[in-house]
Formats: sequence, structure tokens, C-alpha cells
Amino acid sequence: MEFIHIASGCYYFKSAVNIGYIVNGDKSKGMLIDAGLEASSAKKAIKHLKEENLPITHLFITHAHADHFGGAQYIQKNYKVHTIAPSLEEAVMRYPVFEPMYLFHGNSPLQEMRNKFLEAPSIRIDEICTEGDWEEPFSVEFIHLPGHSHNQFGVLSDGILYAADAFLGDDVLDKHKIPFIVDATENLATLNKLKAMNLKGMVPGHGYYVKDYNLAIQNNMDVHENIANKVYETIVIAGTKGVSFETLVAQMLMQYEITPLNIGMYTLFRTAVTAYMIQLLEEEKAEYKIQEGRPVIFSV
Ligand SMILES: [Zn+2]
Repeated sequence: MEFIHIASGCYYFKSAVNIGYIVNGDKSKGMLIDAGLEASSAKKAIKHLKEENLPITHLFITHAHADHFGGAQYIQKNYKVHTIAPSLEEAVMRYPVFEPMYLFHGNSPLQEMRNKFLEAPSIRIDEICTEGDWEEPFSVEFIHLPGHSHNQFGVLSDGILYAADAFLGDDVLDKHKIPFIVDATENLATLNKLKAMNLKGMVPGHGYYVKDYNLAIQNNMDVHENIANKVYETIVIAGTKGVSFETLVAQMLMQYEITPLNIGMYTLFRTAVTAYMIQLLEEEKAEYKIQEGRPVIFSV
């Protein structure tokens, strides 16, 4: 885990899941942005801050995915921190079983899905963020970035945006093949919003800090456009027979040569593919019928 200085008062811990850090002018207050996958990740980050005599007084969690707040309970148990998070996401952070539950269509999730990647330890939220400026003790702006998660927020400090999973760094984009999203329309709107911002640089949740973020964001947009086109093509090719929701997911996984290792990973891809399907239904480019006991989608 590398501690990287970006700009005055802005840092991040580069890891499989990045942890951001900002410190105020007189170095009396410091805020972690996300907490890593588990206690050991948070521990490492805090050890480093202590070595550099940097404070930790605040914790901001961008969205309720276990890999971003898995280390937060450890921080709350061991340090006095004021914890801020977006609404809705905070409900999942208080009741983390919601994550495997929604991924598993609302059922009680299989025990194997109740792992550290899908269900983090529960945390307390002290303050709900809203979009806009947040003056004391940090001069930051909270930015609404939905699409990857329902109510994800980023933090803008001194021209540096901690963008959470609104986009992926180039080095991780290829690896994901079909990046996780819950809403394709909002995801694209968020990417456009990022592109229109005039900033010094952005830190993604996964990947390196980028100054030339336009290129990185365009790469993300291209990936999403490609997936959206493939979903639509698959439905068009199926013609009047249509394609069942489950088969559509299967065909996408096969086209992208993805073999999920377990049901938990499968549900992540299913959710992402379903997001594009919902977009087609909402835009009336497709419709569905219940046929032979299953929902089947047709192009319009
Ligand atoms: Zn995420």
C-alpha cells in the first residue's frame, strides 16, 4: 500500500481498493475517504498516517460496497471519527446484509455470499452528505455520482476529485470486462458529468490518480457503450423468439469470456447486464413478456 501525495493536503493510499486522505490547513483534522476491504487495510493506512503525524478525525464512505467500507468498523472501534456517508448507501452500511440480499434478488442470501467481498461489518453513520459545499473543518464539495451504486458520492478537494467507482483506472478497466453498475443511464450521465468538470485530476476507487482524466473517462464510456451495444444486438438477433433474462446474461458472459467463480460473482455480472436491459426497456427499444414461466425480452 503506497501513500501518494497528490496536491496540497490531498493524498491517497494506492491499493486494490484506494483509500483517499485529506488534511486541513493546520493539520489538526484529517479525513479518510473510504476504508478499504477489511480491518487490515484500514490498519495499514492509519499506521502510515501516524508515522507521518497526520490526524484522523473524519471518515467519508463514498458508497456501500463492502470493498470500500469493510475496514470502517475497525476504524470506528479504535478511533474517534465523525463518519459521513450518502443517504440510502448509509442504510446498507448500517445493515450490510442488504448487499448480498439485493444481489440475490431479495432472498436470504446463500451463506457463501455472506463473505467479506459482499458483506462488510456494520458501521454507524453520524452525518448524511448532500451535494454541494461542506465548509468546516474541510473546504470540500460533495459530488453526486450515481450509476455504479444507487447514491454514490465523490469528494472534491482543492481541484482533486475522489471519484470512488464512478470510473475505473485504465489498468483495471480491462480486467473487469463488464464493470459493475446498477443503472446504465445514470452511469453514463455521471461519466458525462465528470468529463465536463475542469479539475486538476481525479482518483478512481480502483487504479491510479489521473491528471488526464478525459482520456480515462472516455475509455470507460467506450467500454460501457460496447456492452450496451452487445446487449441490444443479442436481443435484436433473437428476433421474434426473444431471449430470456437469464439467457441474455449467459450470452453476455460467454461473449466476454467471463466465467464467474461462484454465485456471488455471477450476481454482480447479472446486475450489470440487467442495468443495460432496464435501459432498453425504459427507452422503449425493447419490451418483455412472461412466456413459459420466465421473462423474455424482445427488441421493439
Ligand atoms: Zn463499488
